[in-house]
Amino acid sequence: MAAPFDVIVVGGGNAGFCAAQSARQAGARVLVLEKAPRQWAGGNSYFTAGAMRTSHGGLADLKNLLEPTAQDRFPLTDLAPYTDDDFLDDMVRVTRGRTDADLARILAGESRATMDWLRDLGLRFELMYRRQAYEVDGHHRFWGGLAVGVVGGGKGMIEQHLAAVERTGVHVRFDAPVTRLATASDGTVHGVVLADGDAQL
Ligand SMILES: Cc1cc2nc3c(=O)[nH]c(=O)nc-3n(C[C@H](O)[C@H](O)[C@H](O)COP(=O)(O)OP(=O)(O)OC[C@H]3O[C@@H](n4cnc5c(N)ncnc54)[C@H](O)[C@@H]3O)c2cc1C
Repeated sequence: MAAPFDVIVVGGGNAGFCAAQSARQAGARVLVLEKAPRQWAGGNSYFTAGAMRTSHGGLADLKNLLEPTAQDRFPLTDLAPYTDDDFLDDMVRVTRGRTDADLARILAGESRATMDWLRDLGLRFELMYRRQAYEVDGHHRFWGGLAVGVVGGGKGMIEQHLAAVERTGVHVRFDAPVTRLATASDGTVHGVVLADGDAQL
């Protein structure tokens, strides 16, 4: 496959689309190779709830992130701030201390800005009332530090990523299973090998 790409991303799930968009914003010509056919786009990401953990300062802080229509219930919503330290504590707790502290600090510290980045790409967010809140005295009280999700869950997330790559000019090829890296004799990677040919950088 002869095409002038600077970056090839293998796999079109949430991680692959984010990596592709990041490279595209840095000015690269980007190709995403996805082994599944178009109708199965999105890998495991498609089947998720689209929940995205982010630190935040409570409802006021999330106002600009969430869809305007998702804010109708704000007056009856109790959502405590979820700080970077809360996020880090949860990482340490669920991994029983086996989290990499430096990476986790970056993950938590950049999470809120990353949500804005995703919104600017075209992902749409709402509060996950049905999954992450229960009712107390007529108010929706959130628990667990996982309040924000993509509108439409994982299916919505992939639809929104696919629309975003169209807008930004990231190329996506489906039915394209990558079998290995294409390397020169000195080990330099110059592309990937596909089941039916190759894609060169
Ligand atoms: C039931 C369930 C619910 C979940 N809910 C959530 C949630 O709400 N929030 C959350 O953050 N996480 C959730 N997770 C975890 C989440 O699914 C994963 O963390 C996330 O999908 C990983 O994204 P990814 O892009 O790395 O992988 P994937 O979404 O699986 O994407 C990988 C892609 O690579 C393709 N691929 C693989 N090998 C090749 C190859 N050789 N050549 C070409 N393409 C290839 C695959 O076909 C696939 O499309 C959930 C997981 C499960 C199982």
